Amino acid sequence: MLPAIPLEEMVSQAKATYLQRYGVAPQWVVMAPGRVNLIGEHTDYNDGFVMPMAIERYVVMAAGRAEGEGDSLRVFSDAMDGECTIPVGEPVADDLPQWGVYVRGVLEEMKAAGFSCGPLQAVIRANVPLGGGLSSSAALEVATATMVEAATGRSLSKPEKAKLTQRAENIHVGMPCGIMDQFSSAACELDHLMQLDCRTLATKQVPFSNPNITVLIINSNVKRELASSAYPIRRGQCEVAAKQLGVTALRDATMVMLNKMESQIEEVVYRRARHVIGENARVQEMAAALEANNWAQAGELMYASHDSLRDDYEVSCDELNLLVDTAHQIGTGGGVIGSRLTGAGFGGCTVTLVETDAVEDVARRIGQTYQSTLNIEPTLFTTRPAAGAHIIEG
Ligand code: ADP
Ligand code: MG
Repeated sequence: MLPAIPLEEMVSQAKATYLQRYGVAPQWVVMAPGRVNLIGEHTDYNDGFVMPMAIERYVVMAAGRAEGEGDSLRVFSDAMDGECTIPVGEPVADDLPQWGVYVRGVLEEMKAAGFSCGPLQAVIRANVPLGGGLSSSAALEVATATMVEAATGRSLSKPEKAKLTQRAENIHVGMPCGIMDQFSSAACELDHLMQLDCRTLATKQVPFSNPNITVLIINSNVKRELASSAYPIRRGQCEVAAKQLGVTALRDATMVMLNKMESQIEEVVYRRARHVIGENARVQEMAAALEANNWAQAGELMYASHDSLRDDYEVSCDELNLLVDTAHQIGTGGGVIGSRLTGAGFGGCTVTLVETDAVEDVARRIGQTYQSTLNIEPTLFTTRPAAGAHIIEG
């Protein structure tokens, strides 16, 4: 299993890289974490409920003032091993790398919100896996916004920061993502799951620090082409379903309403809606199960979520199914509580709750089965709920 790099170590590395590149020490260091969603998948853009936690994988940004005038950022990313310079308020430069579009989007939105950052330089030290469904993009966006907060000495509320960075991804990157990823990176708390109402943005921090339970994340290390094209299609189908049911969003629909309309709704749209309505209910049930320490029920809810994503929402794939099925076969006898795909699907990661005593064994068994069946090496790591984005220095 991959060990976590302590946050302090990532901060030192970011500062060292900054010093090496720019010849001075940085003035500010900020971090924003990746996230894993325990339950509530494809519900955020239906005004529904989700239950993510921040993970011990971070985007750390070290920054300081640069020479020059106007608002701009010169930024190096260790994950990309590349640098770009972004003038704010200018059209997108032809040679701006794709990752720079995420950063630029946030700078533009921050400027529009009245945050004039001046000329800045920064380095990014990050270890959230890219494109693995653990929200490296949101971590990058929220880190950028937090860096501008540090540099201007002004701050946004967490919901405002989440909405602003979501807007950056929606408008500038062109990815119609919901609010969960950015909200998680901005507002999750250490040792807590965050139950989020994606309509009202009300949160409930659910304590999650039982030392006997460990969160195991397994990256299938595959990403299907369909990942980006299927997402807007699913969103569209949900909108159709909501319209046919006469509700603002599927969050307002019930199974009874859906079943009454079954004969009038296209079969595929019916199944998409059934997933969303069922999944919203499962988030509420999960909150109750956790409060009651009912791990057996928590596990069943995770498997039910996976089945629904696989069969009704059709966003799973053979690799994710193999990981979840293997975990399920090991079962409670072997220390597995529950497992499901997490993130948008079509590859990326699964999240599995495991009894801490058994986690090494469970990880080894699932890893071996996956590798010997598919000849793909998965990456596995455990995490506890980490802190949300904040200014570390400066
Ligand atoms: P996910 O958010 O699930 O990891 P996305 O496809 O939404 O996957 O976002 C991944 C993209 O975000 C990367 O391809 C890259 O453009 C950008 N990105 C994420 N982290 C970094 C980083 N540390 N440095 C530069 N770009 C990054
Ligand atoms: Mg993303």
